[in-house]
Amino acid sequence: MDNEMESNTSFSILTPSKPLQQQEQDPPNPSTALLSDHHHQPIKSPLLFSSLLFTSLLLLTSLSLASAVAFAFLYFSSSSPSLCYSPPPPPPIKTLSKLSHPTVLLISSDGFRFGYQHKTQTPNIHRLINNGTTADLGLIPVFPTLTFPNHYSIATGLYPPHHGIINNYFTDPITGDNFNMQNHDPKWWLGEPLWETVTRHGLRASTFFWPGSEVVKGPWTCPKKYCKQYNGSVPFEDRVDVVLGYFDGPADEVPSFMTLYFEDPDHQGHQVGPDDPAITNAVANIDRMVGRLIGGLEERGVFEDVTVILVGDHGMVGTCDKKLIYLESLEPWIKVPEDWVQSYSPLLAIRPPLGVSVADVVTKMNEGLGSGKVENGMYLKVYLKEELPERLHYSESDRIPPIIGLVEEGYKIEQKRSKKKECGGAHGYDNAFFSMRTIFIAHGPQFERGRKVPSFENVQIYNLVTAILGIKGAPNNGSVSFPGSILLSTS
Ligand SMILES: [Zn+2]
Repeated sequence: MDNEMESNTSFSILTPSKPLQQQEQDPPNPSTALLSDHHHQPIKSPLLFSSLLFTSLLLLTSLSLASAVAFAFLYFSSSSPSLCYSPPPPPPIKTLSKLSHPTVLLISSDGFRFGYQHKTQTPNIHRLINNGTTADLGLIPVFPTLTFPNHYSIATGLYPPHHGIINNYFTDPITGDNFNMQNHDPKWWLGEPLWETVTRHGLRASTFFWPGSEVVKGPWTCPKKYCKQYNGSVPFEDRVDVVLGYFDGPADEVPSFMTLYFEDPDHQGHQVGPDDPAITNAVANIDRMVGRLIGGLEERGVFEDVTVILVGDHGMVGTCDKKLIYLESLEPWIKVPEDWVQSYSPLLAIRPPLGVSVADVVTKMNEGLGSGKVENGMYLKVYLKEELPERLHYSESDRIPPIIGLVEEGYKIEQKRSKKKECGGAHGYDNAFFSMRTIFIAHGPQFERGRKVPSFENVQIYNLVTAILGIKGAPNNGSVSFPGSILLSTS
């Protein structure tokens, strides 16, 4: 495997040498041939010889110059146009100086809304931005913009209906079994996550937390040394230090792929919304962790060798005051009992019992919501899941309840009116909302310095990582051509 990857790296060295190879294949200088012909002419007398010699030299010089000019014209105009007219080739990827194989460290900062990086001084994150490649207007999460569906889309390159984690919690309609975020039964976790792909190729993977990483699946056994069981109380510093420790062993034992996860600033975002000073402090702390990581990699002389990809799973928007919609307000049109509702807000997911027409429920709910008589009713629209906008990719799974509500940004849905009025933050909304975007910042040998790329969906990251590692990934929803559009050329 190492040999395969080294040969990929070496392509970059060959690229600039092509024009030189063309020069080496040029025909011999024609003026040399003319000179040798004249030396075979017979010589009659000294005077005649001098005269002939002078004339010959004059003729020879003229012919040589004419030939040289003609040849130069032909050479530059036809045989090697790239020397004159093509733009300079992109810089080649940087070769590894210390590590024996490409290494990707994928870091998630939960709920890191796009734009948080400018809330305060973030010198370490900006070091990665300035010397790496970033999504200029952020990374687009998948719908629903929730933690588990998105982390697992990043890991598998699949939309939620295909990787199976369609919500943070849900019920399987066939078995009646419930999924929650502590469930590691492989039956829920479909697709092939990166740690499994990497292991399948005989490479080492390590996970310091990532939804789905503790699931024993295929060749991935979640080995104790390289796969940490989730424990939110482990200090962030310790997480960074454990990852750094992987670089202290023999070079060929350094994992090819590593994950690192931080719960912040999502944690604070839910409590106080995206615009509170608590978020600023949390962002500054994440920046310190990035600094601790960069410093540790530099001490070990591997910072320029390691590909660091810093992402979030989704953004955050403030929810407050009167932005509430109550399902009980729909009772004049239809009664939606609590036990039909699998999740309320921001993703309203309803599964009525067998025998109830789901189409009828949708029609009556929308009648009520559009009547002008339901408080904030105009900010919620319900759909049969098959009729949701195609761009949401949220229908092709039995696990998705048949009725899905899309709510306006910042609104919440509750069963019934209560006295509590909370202000905080939420996510899970339509992934078209800018507030749901997060960050993509990548730094490493295959990422151009200071490059900005347009926003893209996080299902592209799977193919990006397998391309960097030089391995073939499992089929997924990412584009095969995406890595070529963002990575430095390797051929
Ligand atoms: Zn959250």
